[in-house]
Amino acid sequence: MPRPSSRWAPRAAGGLLALALVFTIAVTTPWHLIDLPKPDATLDFSTAEIARQNAFRHEMLPWSTTSWVISVVVPLVIGFSPLGRRLYDALRVRPWFLAVPVTVAGIALITNLLTVPTDVLAERVSLKYGLSVENWRLWVWDRGVNWALTSLGVAVIAVVLMALAKRRPQGWWLPGALVAALLVLGVSFAYPVLVEPRFNNFTSMPAGALRSDFLKLADADGVPVQDVLVADASKRTTALNAYVSGFGSTRRLVVYDTLLKDTPPAQIRLVVAHELGHAAEDDVLHGTLIGVLGTAFGVTLLYLLLGARMADPRKVGVFVALVVVATTLASPVQNLVSRKIEARADYHSLRLTNDPRDFVAMQHDLAVRNISGLDPSRWRYWMFASHPTPPERIAMGRAWAAQNSGPVPPLVRR
Ligand SMILES: [Zn+2]
Repeated sequence: MPRPSSRWAPRAAGGLLALALVFTIAVTTPWHLIDLPKPDATLDFSTAEIARQNAFRHEMLPWSTTSWVISVVVPLVIGFSPLGRRLYDALRVRPWFLAVPVTVAGIALITNLLTVPTDVLAERVSLKYGLSVENWRLWVWDRGVNWALTSLGVAVIAVVLMALAKRRPQGWWLPGALVAALLVLGVSFAYPVLVEPRFNNFTSMPAGALRSDFLKLADADGVPVQDVLVADASKRTTALNAYVSGFGSTRRLVVYDTLLKDTPPAQIRLVVAHELGHAAEDDVLHGTLIGVLGTAFGVTLLYLLLGARMADPRKVGVFVALVVVATTLASPVQNLVSRKIEARADYHSLRLTNDPRDFVAMQHDLAVRNISGLDPSRWRYWMFASHPTPPERIAMGRAWAAQNSGPVPPLVRR
């Protein structure tokens, strides 16, 4: 336990960081944009479309939920029991700064292997419905890369914090919080050039009417975009998507090749306008700032929990378990903020294109193609939904149209 005299500073810093975190989330999140009518899937989705979504969910959710539970519970069981220490000892790796990464990778590997059966069953459902087109070799490769990158990230932070704790048992929280926060900042900045290319190939969108239209749209929006990149998503999925990642010199606008294949141009334009909304509002930068503050807060809490015991590399299992607890508890908050930010990007795309009719049609077509859940259960919505549901997004399109350009009729005639 840290001595009482060494606790007031981290307590005060933790309190200040928590305040800064709450303040940043409160002022950067667009809590209210427009009054929405109650979302109603039956206005725009046919009975057959709704039935297909339900059937997909019914087959998929038992497996994907079980996988998620395993991936949370297994690291907790290992970390919070003597198993973590036993694993560390059993691996017999020395010195400690090699043993820690190996143990992290071991815990992640055990978790990964235990979720293989349910993940295989989930992937088979995805293949059956034509959502996934991935071959099993790529599926295994993706899992491997994912395992390696996740283990590396957690291991680097663990080794750094333990090294600091060995040098300054009573004061490691301050340099620890700084270094961990800087690492999060660096990874978020370098993510588009370091991580994304491990999964996809990116090419510049070829010159043509569509590309010129996008660049003109970006110009009209006051968002300078040098290039539009196309990702070869079609090797994995038939789903349609686009995103903005990085900030400053690494910021990029990426569209899936699946989107360019057979989506009507007016709808692609709306997707791009949505992404420009993220760029215009600096959403990635704000998200990174929240991640940086959250990490510094987390390290300070970790010090208050473990104190000088953090110097013990055999505690690495506890560290991994605490990371899992923190990320799991943070995800409902992250998703709440994300849904608001996504709604603002939708709102931006409506203002930029002034095209609510195609907006509603696009949200419908996207949801059908991606087999998105139209009406998820409450806990699933809070735990997993990073975007508003398609009926919610459509309701926003309608509310915007009612205020600005005349009502959009339902897509399903009754
Ligand atoms: Zn978005």
